[in-house]
Amino acid sequence: MGIDLSTPLQYLKGVGPRKAADLKRAGLVTVEDLLYRFPFRYEDRSHMQPIASLRPDMRAAVLGEIKSARLAITRRRGFKIFNAIVSDTSGAIRCTWMNQPFLADVLQPHAAVVIFGDVKLDSSGLHFLNPEYELVVEDALGVHTGRIVPFYEKTGTVTPNMQRRLVRHALDALPAALPEILPDALRTRLHVEPRRAAIEASHFPPNDASIEELNAFRTPAQRRLIFEEFFLFQIGHAWRRHAALTEIKPHVPKVDDRIRAAAARILPFKLTPGQRQAVKEIVEDMQRPQPMNRLLQGDVGAGKTIVALLAALVAMENGLQVAFMAPTEILAAQHYRTIAGLLAASRFRVDLLTGSTPGLEKHTLHAHVERGTTNFVVGTHALVQENVRFHRLGLVVIDEQHRFGVEQRAALRAKGLHPDVLLMTATPIPRTLALTDYSELDVSKITDLPPGRTPVRTWVKPESRRDEIYQLLRDELDRGRQAYIIYPLVEDSEKIDLKSATEMADHLQAEVFPAYRVALLHGRMKPDAKERVMSAFAGGQVHILVSTTVVEVGVDVPNASIMVVEHAERFGLSQLHQLRGRVGRGPWESHCVLLYQSPWTDDARERLKALAATSDGFVIAEKDLELRGPGDVFGTRQSGLPRLRTGDLVRDREVMEDAHREARRLVADGGLTGELLEFVQQRWEPQFGLIEVG
Ligand code: ADP
Ligand code: MG
Repeated sequence: MGIDLSTPLQYLKGVGPRKAADLKRAGLVTVEDLLYRFPFRYEDRSHMQPIASLRPDMRAAVLGEIKSARLAITRRRGFKIFNAIVSDTSGAIRCTWMNQPFLADVLQPHAAVVIFGDVKLDSSGLHFLNPEYELVVEDALGVHTGRIVPFYEKTGTVTPNMQRRLVRHALDALPAALPEILPDALRTRLHVEPRRAAIEASHFPPNDASIEELNAFRTPAQRRLIFEEFFLFQIGHAWRRHAALTEIKPHVPKVDDRIRAAAARILPFKLTPGQRQAVKEIVEDMQRPQPMNRLLQGDVGAGKTIVALLAALVAMENGLQVAFMAPTEILAAQHYRTIAGLLAASRFRVDLLTGSTPGLEKHTLHAHVERGTTNFVVGTHALVQENVRFHRLGLVVIDEQHRFGVEQRAALRAKGLHPDVLLMTATPIPRTLALTDYSELDVSKITDLPPGRTPVRTWVKPESRRDEIYQLLRDELDRGRQAYIIYPLVEDSEKIDLKSATEMADHLQAEVFPAYRVALLHGRMKPDAKERVMSAFAGGQVHILVSTTVVEVGVDVPNASIMVVEHAERFGLSQLHQLRGRVGRGPWESHCVLLYQSPWTDDARERLKALAATSDGFVIAEKDLELRGPGDVFGTRQSGLPRLRTGDLVRDREVMEDAHREARRLVADGGLTGELLEFVQQRWEPQFGLIEVG
């Protein structure tokens, strides 16, 4: 029977309507779905070990028959041990499973079975302890034993065993060659094997393949398929980037001496070399006919705001409007204060637009923005949600951009006619992700910090040392500094074991620091109440700010020199790094105290140690990625992350680098034609509205 990759699985041998429905529920509809679901591990069953040759501490596979089986229940309540004796022609061995009583139904006498695992020796003799097992049913296909065997994830009612058989059937029914989507020239240059062979060898590797390489997904066959997947992803980005080069802005800013002088007038300090370089790159982009699409990366406190403001000045001096979007009201208000202050002496009008701007004011503000009398509007996502129309939007700045969804960024961009876009982030983007989500952006990095900063001293302390910490805090306050005390979310009422930040603020005020002013800030407060507290803290009238993580990003109060994080063991690594970035912004030595409550998990210990060991955001981001995986680090909001079938962003990061390079090269050389172009258009065009701003 002739089939191809798009054939529905129900036409495969052995698949009836019932099984097809099961497969569909497991996400497998076509032959391609089946074949591109890789095994998650491989086991070498090409050499079955005779049972008589087993020795303690071996890892071995045996093929035998179950002679007897017995479920024993120990006196300890509910503790069940299942023992089976398995024999082959050379001998017999006991297999023991703890607390898997259902095995009594699965592994019954006379069944043929493959046992794979660690051989142990104790006073009761040689045995397998909790080994893998698999019943050997009919194996006419020779897929279950006598070879390197693939193991598939069980999904729903689709068992690993069934998948193994189906994959074999599918491979047998497919033609000897499959259409190649990678261009010939690329395949020749990279010496990649044909697609058909790579699929075969990824499921049923030849017996001389290395089991270690297979399980690391590093055989040429596996890497070839992973490369293909990554390449098809990268080619979309490369194409998008290429297409952007043909877009033309209606207004191209110019920079002259008058503008340089205006910039010099608003600058409150001397730029660091890193900031100067970033400004240069950004302003060069702005003067090009194509819209800028640039990401400004700089660790917390590196001074990104002023860089954005200088870019904004260039736009405004050229008669263009600027929209500056921040992820929280607190941050938007802070930016508004800073920016309005620096532009006070200029002729430009700055406004703040957030969800809590009162209706009437909002109405007037919209009119100003639409007429162009507002030159610079700072705001939250209200800038995209509300009915805001710009007169001549030339520059969009998105601060802490990782906090926004892809859609929100795209919506703001769509308000301008091809405006320049500057994304800013303090969350360093690990290389792997930079190559995926951010693949088509240009990147500027500020790697230095403003002068006079001393690194924050980080302390990891058990909660029992609280008194010492309060003393440290008091010393800082006595020197005229201010403090943050951070709590995990109080909003989460189930977490009653967490001290309520509210109670704690009262306690600190009344009993511990009566001479100082303590204030509370949390996400449940009304926006104007938040703003009052924040500006009192920024103005120095509040000395200790007890807060939830609402101050996590962007907040800038240079006089604050100490932060105490309660229940630090509950925070993620990147989050702690962001929090810590709130101190160390002035010339004083600053402290970050991570209080933990024992017992803590190994993970928590590793996180806190990692944080204490380095202040380098990149090192921390890589570590975080390693500990949690990309999905968790970047959250579900990053819908730009590819859903991968064969590859893994962390495990296969060099493959992604190759794919990135090759895709850009192919597009630049004009090699994106024919079927590949059709594929890219079909797959990516519907998404490009969203991908546009990275
Ligand atoms: P981030 O990159 O985290 O957004 P900010 O833009 O908030 O950093 O800047 C952090 C602090 O450093 C602010 O108080 C800012 O005024 C100050 N700052 C920025 N650049 C310089 C500089 N070149 N010299 C001195 N202080 C600076
Ligand atoms: Mg910032």
